[in-house]
Amino acid sequence: MIWYPYTQMKTMKETLKVVDAEGVYIYTEEKALIDTISSWWCTAFGYKNPKITQAIVDQAQKFSHIMLAGGLVHEPAQKLADKLANWLPGDLNYTFFTDSGSIGVEVAIKMALQYHMNKGYEGRNVLLSLTNSYHGDSFKTMEAGDDEDYHAILKAYGESPYVLHVPTEIDALEKVFEERGNDLFCFIVEPLLQGAGGMLMYSLDFLKRAKELCDEYDVILIFDEVATGFGRTGYRFVADEVLPDIIVLGKVLTGGHLPMAATVAGQKVWDAFYDDDPDKALMHGPTFMGNPLAASAALASIELFDEGGYMDRIKEIEALLRSETEGFAHPLVKDVRVMGTTLCIEVFDSKDLDGFKEYAYERGVFVKPFLKYMYTMLPYVITDDEIKIVVDTMKGWFNDKTC
Ligand SMILES: *Cc1c(COP(=O)(O)O)cnc(C)c1O
Repeated sequence: MIWYPYTQMKTMKETLKVVDAEGVYIYTEEKALIDTISSWWCTAFGYKNPKITQAIVDQAQKFSHIMLAGGLVHEPAQKLADKLANWLPGDLNYTFFTDSGSIGVEVAIKMALQYHMNKGYEGRNVLLSLTNSYHGDSFKTMEAGDDEDYHAILKAYGESPYVLHVPTEIDALEKVFEERGNDLFCFIVEPLLQGAGGMLMYSLDFLKRAKELCDEYDVILIFDEVATGFGRTGYRFVADEVLPDIIVLGKVLTGGHLPMAATVAGQKVWDAFYDDDPDKALMHGPTFMGNPLAASAALASIELFDEGGYMDRIKEIEALLRSETEGFAHPLVKDVRVMGTTLCIEVFDSKDLDGFKEYAYERGVFVKPFLKYMYTMLPYVITDDEIKIVVDTMKGWFNDKTC
């Protein structure tokens, strides 16, 4: 029996059996479906991407796994770390590999906390994050998150004194730093686009101010770009605009072909660990870190992203999502917003999305609305015609309703 995520198993609806997947399409035994959310935001270059698939096959014929410990290293991990150092902005040069976004965030938080310990700074044990944030489902990432819908289990502990949440408003941020700036060890954000918290969008100005405050108070600024990286927001990385101390990558990193995340630190963080004292080392090591198949997929994925003109395509997708939804309004709809490949139609009442999945299925579209949010996180290889089908399906759900 499979135990499914975020699901009451007793009342779960029937599952769709997938028999193939290629490009933007998921094939069930019955029909082809356009995937509007890139398999939880990761398969940006399409399913069964030929270049990524080939890279995995080629590496599998050499070896599929070797641990990145005990004095061993291998070419795919080395090349990927080198590539990231050259490719990511500023001094984000030091890559710690993990196998999921949640653990990548855990590592970033650990680095930030130990940065202060290694420096001998006392009393820096409070993590600052945004209201409505989501950083993963492991325990510390749940705590960093602010979303009871996912993290209700934390009620078992009561409110943590080690976490503060701040809204995406500069005034509120300044106030927190003024009052608690010397208690904070890090400020972690999903830059510009808060995904699982409800596809919330905010401005670069907030992040610019955050960077100033973090520098002033020596608080480690962490960008969780697990979802926003690789062009999702219309920027290649938000880190290209505002440089964090640590960035976390996941999801699109392997084009969604294999699980892998990377926590990449800048010079300041690295220097606090680089020492003759063994106690200042980073004590973390996932079994499958830097897996050669995943690293090969990531190298292929980065090459595709660089050579495929995807940043231009993402701008076109964003423009099309805007023009296709311009002037759209409905009594059930609270807000329509667009950023990069994300279109979110927020309703007042989550019940008004009941049945939308089945409605879309009939029209050959796979959707995964949650709570009050009907949204896309489109694959970059989607065509204009397919985008129109997707947006028509979303608008059609409301326009076909009698209310
Ligand atoms: C998906 C996501 C994570 C968690 O990644 P997993 O690979 O599911 O563990 C963390 N942060 C953000 C912003 C995410 O969207």
